Amino acid sequence: MDFPAEPFRIKVVEPLKKTNRAEREALILRAGLNVFNLPADGIYVDLLTDSGTSAMSDNQWAGLMLGDESYAGSRNYQNFENSIKELFGFKHIIPTHQGRSAEHLLFSILLDQKKIVPNNIHFDTTRANVLHQGAKPVDLVIDEGLDPNHSHLFKGNMDLEKLEDLITSAGPDRIPVVMMTVTNNSGGGQPVSMENIRQVSEITRRHNIRFFLDACRFAENCYFIKEREEGYGSKSIREIAKELFSYADGCTMSAKKDGLVNIGGFLAMNDASLAGDVSNLLILVEGFPTYGGLAGRDLEAIARGLEEVVDEDYLAFRIGQVRYLADLLKKAGVPLLQPTGGHAVYLNAREFLPHIPQSQFPAQALTVALYRHAGIRAVEVGSLMFGEKDKDTGEERYPELEMVRLAIPRRVYTSMHMKYVAESIVHLYQERKSIKGLRLIYEAPILRHFTAKLEDID
Ligand SMILES: *Cc1c(COP(=O)(O)O)cnc(C)c1O
Repeated sequence: MDFPAEPFRIKVVEPLKKTNRAEREALILRAGLNVFNLPADGIYVDLLTDSGTSAMSDNQWAGLMLGDESYAGSRNYQNFENSIKELFGFKHIIPTHQGRSAEHLLFSILLDQKKIVPNNIHFDTTRANVLHQGAKPVDLVIDEGLDPNHSHLFKGNMDLEKLEDLITSAGPDRIPVVMMTVTNNSGGGQPVSMENIRQVSEITRRHNIRFFLDACRFAENCYFIKEREEGYGSKSIREIAKELFSYADGCTMSAKKDGLVNIGGFLAMNDASLAGDVSNLLILVEGFPTYGGLAGRDLEAIARGLEEVVDEDYLAFRIGQVRYLADLLKKAGVPLLQPTGGHAVYLNAREFLPHIPQSQFPAQALTVALYRHAGIRAVEVGSLMFGEKDKDTGEERYPELEMVRLAIPRRVYTSMHMKYVAESIVHLYQERKSIKGLRLIYEAPILRHFTAKLEDID
């Protein structure tokens, strides 16, 4: 068998519309060659993101009906708090409407213009929220993590020497928190090893610096630890998660990933005084501390989702399905980021389209071509998302990695969908020389990839 078959069956279906080439051409031109501007019902297989796109279980849907919408003290908050405390081990749990809001709250309290935040690689909203406070995000992933062909098993690891050097040169007072993203989304959904987390924790404790995990995909990371790291093969995911979080002082979490829900997030931490400051700000911008921008029913769905996501049959299927898609592509010679990450397959656009320079957005060109050809929506993670103008010279600076991310929603698509996606990409690969570069005609000052408009270069 190619991968573990689905450990669930389908009770409700959501029909998908198929479009023809001419319809897609009209839609993508109207969208300014930006797949974020497409109407979702013009898409056949939507791999834009694994965030908030999960299918909830019957148990989660049943939980929605038990929503207690009391303004304060909802019983669903109790369930939410209990399930997080038990799994994550932190003392204070603060609900937010999604992950970026947890980031915004935390950074509003901790950062100012003098501060620096190290991370393995900042996810785009994390980076933007650090910058929004005038502080500086610094990425310290190991060098192997930036090499798309390196097969290191824990490419999300932080370079400990770089971290020590930064702390020494900047001084620990300028670093109120070290973050670590598990799995490392912007680096390809690559896991971080338990050993690396333990070591980063030792360094931060020695310098009296807080250590927070960006825990969006903690369960997927724990599954990789179980699979790949010595000493964890016979431990349960729950045990591994408990150890992982024990090394940190807190976490930010988008429950739209490993919470298996469509909306929600939280902040968790041990420091009571910090939690108090965050809660006061929460009341101002999100809501009362027992709902934090969510309905009671949403809290219930998260509480139940967190129980389901650590199930090993689920994780074996989940990681296996992503790997299955990657293996189909690999067999046909399509250049991919190695090894396959937890939530997505990444096409290496620089190798896929060597004739398109980075100034013409090769990964975006491939993303647009994939929609035009097959109605599949992927997302660019390259020079459109991370390119920036040098403040002094005005010159464009390009990121190391130029990728197209095929993010797989949890429990949503079947293996036949994966096969369709693979065959469509293989077809494009055979015709890659006909794909042309793109030109940017509109960009916003921050997070430009969401609203950019582009045109074909003839
Ligand atoms: C999605 C994500 C976030 C932000 O969460 P939202 O719920 O989208 O606001 C932060 N960090 C990582 C690693 C993510 O994947």
